[in-house]
Amino acid sequence: MSQAIQFDPIRLPDAAEDLRSEVRAFLADNAEHLDRPSRRGFDHEFARKVAAKGWIGLTWPKEYGGQERSFLERYVITEEFLVARAPSQVYFTADRQSGPVILKYGDEELKRQVLPRIIAGECTFAIGMSEPDSGSDLFAAKAKAERTNEGWRLNGTKVWTTAAHEADYMIGLFRTSPATKENRRHGLTQFLVDMKKPGIQTRPILWPNGDHDFNEVVFEDVDLPANHLLGEEDNAWMQATAELAYERSGPERFLETIAVLIELVNLVGPTPDSRAAEGLGRLVAQLFTLRRMSISVAGMLAAGKEPVLEASIVKDLGTVWMQKLPDICRDLGALIDRDLAARQRFEAALTSNMLIAPKLTIQGGTTEILRGIIARGLGLR
Ligand SMILES: Cc1cc2nc3c(=O)[nH]c(=O)nc-3n(C[C@H](O)[C@H](O)[C@H](O)COP(=O)(O)OP(=O)(O)OC[C@H]3O[C@@H](n4cnc5c(N)ncnc54)[C@H](O)[C@@H]3O)c2cc1C
Repeated sequence: MSQAIQFDPIRLPDAAEDLRSEVRAFLADNAEHLDRPSRRGFDHEFARKVAAKGWIGLTWPKEYGGQERSFLERYVITEEFLVARAPSQVYFTADRQSGPVILKYGDEELKRQVLPRIIAGECTFAIGMSEPDSGSDLFAAKAKAERTNEGWRLNGTKVWTTAAHEADYMIGLFRTSPATKENRRHGLTQFLVDMKKPGIQTRPILWPNGDHDFNEVVFEDVDLPANHLLGEEDNAWMQATAELAYERSGPERFLETIAVLIELVNLVGPTPDSRAAEGLGRLVAQLFTLRRMSISVAGMLAAGKEPVLEASIVKDLGTVWMQKLPDICRDLGALIDRDLAARQRFEAALTSNMLIAPKLTIQGGTTEILRGIIARGLGLR
């Protein structure tokens, strides 16, 4: 079905800009936690400090420990933390998407058990969607959940599971029935899985430089209580699709390699030559446009809309842009030799961001899949 692209002209409200000053002051006070390469963002002390500010679960209901503040205020915190390279990995996934899924689909006992722990900065989540033969095509998932007298039993394998080795919980997609002829999306169900349960093996998949982010997670007769089923049995495809609109449109979808641009600005200094000035001007103009589009999607989500098409456009344009950014910055900075310390910081940012660049257009849905969604939204397929 055809659908027009609609980016509402959202501006951040004054409350969000006021919060920005507070966030910057907090980051300045906690500079010792920022931009540390080790453990790729798992800093439990920092997570507790953020929690003490009330900035995890900021938008969630007060009865579970949230602040009931706006989605656009949360946007500002995420944006400032990304630019400062703050280590938010302990709680990031839980705050962005797992907590909201539990709020929407979990039973009361689960909400009271899990949400306050996320808000306290003490709970890490992993996402268990991809499998060895099911990545882009989620509906081919084979890992299964079978009914038992007490609840459910899981068997199967998930792969590319970011942070599973650090996670307290996974929200996983499991097959509870075969797909039907009429609907191949039918038959998948979301579960909350306690990662400390017997029968779960988490095996590392290492980056070429030895860093550890991803895992293969094998489930062998893992028993879950009945109330760990989230939402509706067999109908998780609708839940997982809505979750992806949150996953695809945030500032992390164009700011993940921003360190190279910041270090390039430091390297060229206050009097860039015309080549660097033109290149930087172009990049900043593109960044500004992406940011306006991403804020627009955040505003539409806050207004209760489901901008799935617009979120896919932000992720496609944003990830392709930030993937090219290290290469473009390397060219712009190649001949500048003004300040040795600035050059070393620039080189360090280049090295780490060139390494991660290839993944940016794969995680959370590949470029080709996003363009398929966009084409369908425009009625072109
Ligand atoms: C950094 C990173 C973190 C990740 N974290 C997680 C995680 O925490 N949890 C999780 O569940 N998964 C995670 N993933 C997995 C990710 O979601 C999948 O890699 C992604 O969905 C692609 O699936 P695949 O690797 O099986 O590739 P495939 O689906 O096999 O795709 C291979 C190629 O074929 C193309 N392709 C496939 N289908 C089509 C089509 N219909 N039309 C056109 N082209 C097509 C794809 O675009 C791609 O280029 C992560 C991946 C990365 C890179």
